[in-house]
Amino acid sequence: IRVVFTPIHRRDIGITGTIAMLQDITEQEKLEDARREFVANVSHELRTPLTTMKSYLEALDDGAIEDPTLAHRFVGVMRNETERMIRLVNDLLHLSRLDSRKAMVSKEPTHIPDMLEEVADRFSFQLDQKDISIQIKVEAGIRDVMLDRDQIDQVLDNLVSNAIKYTPEGGAIVIRARRTEREWLEISVQDNGIGIPRKDLSRIFDRFYRVDKARSRNMGGTGLGLSIAREIVKAHGGTISLESELGHGTRVTFALPVQQMEGEAV
Ligand code: ADP
Repeated sequence: IRVVFTPIHRRDIGITGTIAMLQDITEQEKLEDARREFVANVSHELRTPLTTMKSYLEALDDGAIEDPTLAHRFVGVMRNETERMIRLVNDLLHLSRLDSRKAMVSKEPTHIPDMLEEVADRFSFQLDQKDISIQIKVEAGIRDVMLDRDQIDQVLDNLVSNAIKYTPEGGAIVIRARRTEREWLEISVQDNGIGIPRKDLSRIFDRFYRVDKARSRNMGGTGLGLSIAREIVKAHGGTISLESELGHGTRVTFALPVQQMEGEAV
């Protein structure tokens, strides 16, 4: 509901006042608002690295280019900014494919313990660097499941990369897989990192929503990781949720309906 106040002056009948009108904002207008906000966010996110690069280019042009050490550092900064912009544009393209439902879910039999081990392997360098341990716990009997491996890998990568980004050195990550009462496959990624304030929880899956923009940017984040994860899980007909306690850690859990679970416990 939107309230609109219109002042009125009717000298002829000697009335001045205000008319208050209650307008029902339709679904269409809400969509339009969301679209405008999204475009504003995208523009802002692209302008930030471009402005940074412009100032470094100007500094180089103003003489820093003569100082090899300084020049080298500036080029490094610009490379980072460029890489972040490429990541952002890739994330945006990915989201737009998911939005237009062009991204077909193509399921193949996937060995769950292998899939989870491979995620941990992909991040082994970053995990070592921050001395973060990772543990994988798969409920007995979970083996092959039909899912879109590329897309679920993307979800896992986003969640594990967040867990590493927002967990201090020496922390611990646990990935669990289990079967729910409804026979869905449930996978969770839990960390004992910085956590998320309660007030931010309801918006955490929104596009570009970040608890701490500066921190996320420094970590190379685009603010789109969780929204992409949610879209992929939705495309699979599944659900995703996040629990977190500030200062203690975060757990993101997604569940997928699975048609076929082979390989019962022996
Ligand atoms: P980003 O690229 O900023 O990491 P995401 O969409 O992946 O974007 O996450 C949105 C925000 O949620 C992050 O900026 C961060 O504030 C918060 N967040 C996500 N995962 C975690 C986590 N495991 N621990 C703490 N905060 C997290």
